[in-house]
Order: sequence, then C-alpha cells, then structure tokens
Amino acid sequence: MNLSRRSFLKLVGGATATATLTSLNINVEKAKAQRVRVHYAKEVPTICPFCAVGCGIICHVQDGQVINTEGDLDHPINEGTLCSKGSGLINTAFVYTDKGELKPNPERVTKVLYRAPGASDWEEKDWDWALREIAQRVKKTRDETFETTDENGVTVNRTKAIGHLGSAVINNEENYLLHKMMRGLGVITMDHCARLCHSSTVAGLMASFGRGAMSNHWIDYQHADVFINIGGNTAENHPVSMKWVEKAREERGAKLIAADPRFTRTAAVADVYAPQRPGTNNAFLNGMINYALENGLFNLEYLRNYTNASYLIHPDYSFHEGLFSGAQPLDDGQVTYDTETWAYQRDEDGNILTDEDMRDPNCVFQLLRDHYSRYDVKTVSEVTGCPEDKFEEVAELFCSTGETGKAGTILYAMGMTQFTDAAQGVRACAVLQLVLGNMGMPGGGVNAQRGESNVQGSTDMCMLYHLLPGYLPVISAAAHPTFDSYLDAEVPDSGFLVNRPSHLVSLFKAYWGENATADNDFAYDYHPKMDDKDRSDIGIFYEMERGNIDGLFCWGQNPAVSGSGAKQKREGLQQLDWLVSVDVFANETATFWKEPGVNSEGIDTEVFLLPAALDFERNGSISNSGRWIQWRYKAQDPPGDCKPDLWIADRIFRAVRDVYEDDPGPFAAPILDMNWDYGEDADSNKVAMEINGYDTQTGHLLESFAHLRDDGRTACGNWLYGGYYNDVNDPPTKRRVREKEGIGTNPEWSFAWPVNRRILYNRCSADPEGNPWSPDRKLLWLENGEWTGYDVPDFNTAIPPEESAKAPFIMLPEGGGRLFSAAMADGPFPEHYEPWESPVENMLSERQFNPVSKVWYPDMRGDSDEYPYIATSYRLTEHYQTGMVTRNMPWLNEIMPDMFVEISPSLASKIGVDNGDMVVVSSPRGEFEAVACVTPRVKPLQIQGEEHEVVGMPWHWGYAGMSTGDIANDVTPSIGDANTTIPEYKAFLCNIRKRG
Ligand code: SF4
Repeated sequence: MNLSRRSFLKLVGGATATATLTSLNINVEKAKAQRVRVHYAKEVPTICPFCAVGCGIICHVQDGQVINTEGDLDHPINEGTLCSKGSGLINTAFVYTDKGELKPNPERVTKVLYRAPGASDWEEKDWDWALREIAQRVKKTRDETFETTDENGVTVNRTKAIGHLGSAVINNEENYLLHKMMRGLGVITMDHCARLCHSSTVAGLMASFGRGAMSNHWIDYQHADVFINIGGNTAENHPVSMKWVEKAREERGAKLIAADPRFTRTAAVADVYAPQRPGTNNAFLNGMINYALENGLFNLEYLRNYTNASYLIHPDYSFHEGLFSGAQPLDDGQVTYDTETWAYQRDEDGNILTDEDMRDPNCVFQLLRDHYSRYDVKTVSEVTGCPEDKFEEVAELFCSTGETGKAGTILYAMGMTQFTDAAQGVRACAVLQLVLGNMGMPGGGVNAQRGESNVQGSTDMCMLYHLLPGYLPVISAAAHPTFDSYLDAEVPDSGFLVNRPSHLVSLFKAYWGENATADNDFAYDYHPKMDDKDRSDIGIFYEMERGNIDGLFCWGQNPAVSGSGAKQKREGLQQLDWLVSVDVFANETATFWKEPGVNSEGIDTEVFLLPAALDFERNGSISNSGRWIQWRYKAQDPPGDCKPDLWIADRIFRAVRDVYEDDPGPFAAPILDMNWDYGEDADSNKVAMEINGYDTQTGHLLESFAHLRDDGRTACGNWLYGGYYNDVNDPPTKRRVREKEGIGTNPEWSFAWPVNRRILYNRCSADPEGNPWSPDRKLLWLENGEWTGYDVPDFNTAIPPEESAKAPFIMLPEGGGRLFSAAMADGPFPEHYEPWESPVENMLSERQFNPVSKVWYPDMRGDSDEYPYIATSYRLTEHYQTGMVTRNMPWLNEIMPDMFVEISPSLASKIGVDNGDMVVVSSPRGEFEAVACVTPRVKPLQIQGEEHEVVGMPWHWGYAGMSTGDIANDVTPSIGDANTTIPEYKAFLCNIRKRG
C-alpha cells in the first residue's frame, strides 16, 4: 500500500495511536532489515490471537524462549503489518524491565489455584489434586441430576445441571474435544461467546444463502468498487484489513461509505459518512433495497436466474400491522409464527411454481417491492436520524454496484449483530446484495467481520447448545426421539444436505468408534437430547440465578464482564456449587468472589482456576473470518504449571472416566465407551485427523467430505472440515505457499472450508452461460467447455452451465438465493422494529419492538422519562473484548489506560460536565463510573422531528488485572434477538450524571 502523504495523514489522524507504523506497511524493506536484529533466533510462525483477520506473526525464539514477535512478511493477508494489539503480542508472556530486559508477565497465572467455599483467597494446588477433585464434582453433579427419560418417556440421557462455556480464543482441535467431552457427559447446557457476537450472522446468512459465514475473504476487499461499513468499524476493530480497502481505493478508485452512530476511525477515512441512530440498521438497509427497486438499480438478470425472485408464495401470505401472516399470540403479548403461508407454491410433483416475468402479485419480486415500498427516503431519514440528502447519497452510491460488471461489498460486525432484530439486519444485507447481484462476486459479498481469532472455528465446532459440529441440528427429545425421526426431520429431499445422514453417522463413529454400530443406531441414544428450554447465554445465566445449574466450566471466557447485565451474571455465579475456569490470567469470572464490595465469606462456590498456555505455547489450528483454517505452532513451553487447553480437556476427561470406571453411575456407557486416545500429552495432530475424517477399517485419512458414508465405514468429527488435514505429511491447514499469480485467493495458503473454496457461491461470478460478469474480476469461467479459474467451484461442474445456474446456492434445497426466506422466526422479509428500549414510537408499523423476541426480564426495561439518552457500546483497537489479556499488556495500557464514555458537547453542557470529569452512567440493570470524553464524534440526531442525544461506551474494563475500571455491561439489557437471543448490547437507554 503506497500511501500518499495526504492519505497517510488522514489515516493516522483518524486513528491516532491506533496502529504502529508497521501496521501501515510503509516500508517493507525496513521491516525486513529489522528482522536482521534477531537473525540468530529461530523463527516460528503463529497467527495473531486477537481479531479474526488472521494476521501472521513470527516468534523469534532463542534458547527455547520467545524473545521477539513481529509481523510475518510472508503472510498474504497482513504482509508483515500488524495493528497495536498484534504488535504487542510478546507482552502477553513478557514485559520489559526499566533496563529493557524481558521478564515474565507478572499477572500470568502459573499455578493451579483453588478457592474453598467461603474463603477470601486462593490456595495453590497441583494438577493431580485438581483433576481428581474436578472429576469428583462432575460425577456428583451428573449422578444426582441425570435424567435417562423425560416426562414423555423419551430416552434423553442428559444432565441439565452442568453448564459449559466454550471459547473463541482456543484452537479448533481444543473446541472439538471439549464439545465431544461435554456431549459424552450428557451436558446440554452449553454455549459460548459466539452467541454474543455473531450468532445472528449465522441465522441471517444461513437462512439466505445456506451457509452462515463471511462469503468472501479479507484480501478480496481489493476488488470492490464500493464498500459500505455499516454496523462495524473496520479501521478500529479489524485494522489490518483496511490495507485491502485502501488498495481498492487507490488502484480502482473504490469508494468507502461509513454508516454509524459515531464518527468512528473508519468514518474519519471514508468518502461518505452517514450518521445513524443505534438500532436502525434494518430501516437503513431496507431503505437502500427500496431505493434500488424504485430506481431500477437492481441486476435483473442476476435476480431472475440466481435468486428466488420469480418463485410464487402461498396466496394467503400477508404483512399487516407489523405482523406477518400466521401470527399466534402468546400470553405476554408477543407472538410465534405458523409459517404455512410463507411456503412456496408447488405443483403436484412438488416442483416450485414460478413466474419468469416476475409480474405475478404472489411472486417474491412483487412481494419484495410491496414490502419495502414503505421505506422511502423521508421515512428512513426520520427513523434513522440520517439526513435525507446523506441517505440518498449513500443509497445512490452503493446501489450503483447493481450495474453489471460492478461489485459492492458490505462490511459489518457487532454494530449489526447485537439487536433484537439483528438476524433480520443480516438478512437485509443479504437481500440487498442479491438485489444488486453482488453475491458470489470477487469484491462483493456480505462480509461478517469476526472479532475473535477463532470465533469462526469455535462456531464451526458448534460450542452452542442448539447445534452439533458442522451445524448439524442438535438432537431434541421432542423432535427427534429416535434416529429415524432425526433423519426424517432433518434431511431434505434435495440440495447438498441430502448427505446429512453420512455427516451424523460419521460424527458418532468419531465419538464412540466401534461402540457405534448399525444395530444401536450408531449410539444415537448415547447422545443427550435437548429439552425445550432456551439454553443460550441469557438462558444459562437465568437458570443459574435460580439455582438450577450446579457446576460450570468456563474456558477462556469472562462472562462477569462480557455478559449483558453483567452484574446479574456475577450474582448468578454465586449460586454455583463449583466453577472451573481455564485461563491465562485471573479474570473477573474466576475472581467474582473478590469483586470490591462483595462479601466472599457468604459465597459457597468452589473455584478451580486452571492455568492455560498462550497461543504460541501450543499447537493447533484456528479459522479466521474468511474461513481460512491456519495452523499455529508452539514456539516455547508454557511457564510453571500452565498447560495447553487440549491437555487440560484430555486430562479432565480421563480423570472423569477413571472415577466412572471405579464406580459407574447412571448410564456411564457414553463415557466408558467413548473413542478417546490422543496420546499421553494430547496431540493436536491426532485430534485434527479425527476432525478431518478417516476410513474406520483402514484408518486412512479421507480426502474430503465427499467420501463420508452413512453405514459406519467412516468417522469424521466435523464434515465441514473434511480435507483440512487429509495428508499426514502435508496437511493443507499447514500449507504456506503464496500464489504467484491470481486474484488473491491463495489456494495453497492454509485451507478454507468447505473444500478450500475461497469465495462462496462462486457460480454467481459468471453469467448463466459461464462468462464472467466482469472481465476485470474473473473468478471462474467456462473455457472450451471446461470450468477454469482461481477458486474451487462451489457447484457441480459435471452438469451443463445452464443447469448449475439453476442452483448457485447449493446448500439451499431450492437452489436460488432467498430474497424471501421462511427460515426466520420473525418473518420472511427483514422488517424494522424499535429496540426494546427506545425513546420513539415505531413509524413503520403498529408493533413497537420485535414481536417474536423472548422477554426474560420484563421488569428491567428502562423508559425515556427516567433514562433519556440512547446508548451504544463498542470496542477499541488497543483492547480486546473484556480486556483480560490486553489490560495485562503494559504497552496497550499506556496507549488506552481508562474506561470512558463519549458524550456530545451539547449533552455535556446540559448535564454540567467538562471533558475529563467523572460521570455515572445508569440503567435499570445497574450503573458504573467513567471518565467523560466530550467529543463532537457523537452528535445529537434528529429523530421524528426531535433531537436525541447518543452516548457511546467501550466495554473492555473490569476489576481484575493490571488496568482496572468499571464494567460497561452492567448497564446493558438481557433481551435477545428473536432468532438467536443475541443480547441487544448496541441500543438501549441510559441516564448520565456528573459524579457527586
Ligand atoms: Fe491483525 Fe487483528 Fe491481530 Fe490486529 S488484532 S494484528 S488486525 S489479526
């Protein structure tokens, strides 16, 4: 990236202290020369453990110790550049003395620690003691609460009283093993932080395209003509990826739009900034869809061929007074939908009826036009607070990519995903991109930017109560009492998922090996069955507060700070009998009994804090946002008694199995029969082979998931990862070969699921005849009757192009991208509803807030009389999630030392606050103190003719570690999205006053 001085100043001006000079990639030669400084050291490649850009980092190792870390010049994504977090990586393990020497980070937990009931401090223990004690706690809780059948007599083999929170910062192999262990124990109460960041992404994208992941990849940004960053702040939260945005701007004149409640670091470098009220993404995006339809900016040929625009919908489908047809009222005023009228019309053979002219009033295209006609520019402006001319400028610019030969991309993160209608916001992104013909295109797509290094992988391993690895639907007692009923319910008649039986059977073979046979339905009843409770994050803590969960495992997670209404989460932890926390530092969750003001004597919870290894102290793979599964290597031994999570998981399972061997409790078979042999010190390569899949007779690794069988001849821990470790000598996940020519797909660098495809739905990059839509953006094309190009085709190349063109979205049974989707809980078209807490009425319909959202805490809803300001939360470049790692890194603390809230000069004047004063922010959930940052970056917005103030707050601080501060999430609401219950962190009401 050759930055002009002007653009360089613009970038750093908007990102003061955001990035080190290396992150700007100014001088690669200088960076190479720097490496000479440590030429005597061994180089060990790793992948950044922070955000999911997946930057490569080199660890320099001398005498078995890491002495330097820096950007990997060979890595195709970051090419040596790093942001401030990545640059500071060495600080996680070592800090510098005044003399410039390295010494171990003093905050690191290096011993097994135990907190007895009522105790006010830790005791040091050894591993043997801890493993034995934990195994006994697990057995006691499991045995006392185990259910073999439910009230209907269905075999369920489960315990509800052990909870498990997995992790987006540990490796794929570790996540897989944890999932396997928990299911073996009969645990159904499991979730992890992906629920809190991108669960709505999975729901929205899966319902639209058949897969729930970022469609393109970071390097592909270079091919876009227009970017819209809405519900995200790429320059702040995925800084290195901005180099590819900048490349597109410099080399092809691409434009960048930033739509956000605050004038962010991305807005500072954007071509167009559109202010927008928190909680109005759907109105904004629906307005853009309407703009494209009204102004003829849609891609007609793409729509007709690659989407369900021409499909006919049930004639009784309707939308009226904010509700879709089929609404069934519930006691609390909310509704659930009977989706019969959302179905396609079919002929007697089951074929979907269509109108190729797309004029039938029941065809999706006409219903789409009708539904979005309410979202005119004026209405959108009044709802969102974005001035009409600014909204029109944005809509015109982005919708210009509907022209054949152009590409626009949507970049978003948690400013899109954390609302009560968030999954529909993601759907709105999908609908807009289908309307404009931007899916499957280089430079196009819906790019969900993941915030944790392995949140994609942990989601793929499905550390979530409602899924099994590879997004297989969880087994539920009501819907799937038997193996056959599962297959009946979950295997469609057409599309790729007809292969689901082989995925499920191979998973059970991986779990229970030779004990899973055709005679016992491949150990179907060994697997626990779900009850009808919502066991997502909010649900888990709701149950915990009520004493229904006795023990909790918590791996690399810190819900005491990250949870919505975090104060309640900490109160919930006090109800546990035992807590096992596995982490690198003693976070607020492990030390909840040490919170200032809390009487530890009155807390009976036993706490085991197990010291974990850092990312460069262990081996394994992680998956970045673009689905690249990259291997990272151990560079040094962990200090003291610290151990890799894989080792810890393996030892806990073996300890539990030992106690069950000595004294079998209720239905011990799933534990005793489990296929579990990863070597004395748990080899991640062995786990990787199991995830990849193998022939159960020969042990040979499977080349891909295409070889999976439903008769027990194959075992596979996650069909989606089939092929990532298919060669012991040269596993694709470890490959590090950069492409010499091509368009940035780098097919020999790591492995991208599925089957190394870099751009999903890539059949759409060419027209129905197989010619690229855009000559300067060729990805795959037909040449002499054969498909060729730079990516693995995401379609059947053995059939004529006009046939594959009928099903470019191969994961959907109907094959066409869904403008209209019956797979959503809250409606087939995205619709705007107000946040749960809003100071205004919904202008667009009679329903104020999402009618399908589940209300857990009705008494904790703030109103605008008492809480007049619209609040939103966000992250900073210099800190990472709950800050537990970065707040223990001195360099980052120096750059960003304190918790603060951003308020406008007009609000500051109203409440008598000057910049730097201490203020108290409150909501019905709690309050916290912070430094007031009075800044024009937040401005009051005109909503329906009235001015409303917006308040912004980062959420990285807590009471443990080197740098402490109050917890922002103490004020956020525990109200979730209708589809995934992701909490509404990004739009709620608060009050703010000067501290007395
Ligand atoms: Fe790259 Fe993200 Fe790490 Fe920064 S935090 S170096 S952008 S992976």
